[in-house]
Amino acid sequence: MYDVEGNLRQIRAELPQGVQLVAISKYHPNEYIEAAYAQGQRVFGESHEQELKQKHQTLPKDIVWHFIGHLQTNKVKYIAPYINMVEAVDSERLLLEIDKQAAKCSRVIDVLLELHIAEESTKYGLTLDACRQLLAEGVWRQLKHVRICGLMMMASFTDDREQIRREFTIAADFFDEVKQQYFADAPWFCERSWGMSDDYPIALACRSTMVRIGTRIFGPRVY
Ligand SMILES: *Cc1c(COP(=O)(O)O)cnc(C)c1O
Repeated sequence: MYDVEGNLRQIRAELPQGVQLVAISKYHPNEYIEAAYAQGQRVFGESHEQELKQKHQTLPKDIVWHFIGHLQTNKVKYIAPYINMVEAVDSERLLLEIDKQAAKCSRVIDVLLELHIAEESTKYGLTLDACRQLLAEGVWRQLKHVRICGLMMMASFTDDREQIRREFTIAADFFDEVKQQYFADAPWFCERSWGMSDDYPIALACRSTMVRIGTRIFGPRVY
């Protein structure tokens, strides 16, 4: 196993106060999560419903689970009873389904809207205009069982650090735009989830409040 303890200590030392670390544990076995848990880590991110279910059932109940991957609407009902945050809401349809399933569980589920800013066409997420449109239409205002807490995005997979910085900056500016326009009176709308193992220092410089780090903590994933 990687030096989970040492890696966590190093990363935490680099994070400004108030920035949350989501330890991305997808494809790693329980013992890796337990090693991080023993160091006080409580927030973990997973991207597959089945794997998450298995881990949720067998690991400590005070773990805070974030769903970070693309979530199919037909899978929402399985995670709705216990998921703490769905980070990658990329359609109104998904938002409505989360609200519906959360209502059945008498819960309110925190969500982030996922932006598509990266150049790759394979990445999920709302374009800025699609996100503007979703917010302008206002259906979300009626939803009592989801709470929109901010924005999430992934930068392009590239060595061009300037491009990555540009993309994070676009996301940060867009956050200010929608915060002012729709969430000025919503203190819970405060999260900017960007930054992964290879780009989180740039993300922090671009006002990230939530970094999602896997490889730098746990080592490479075995698929
Ligand atoms: C896998 C994944 C991460 C973590 O990636 P690392 O490079 O291992 O830090 C972060 N965010 C999302 C959405 C992911 O799918």
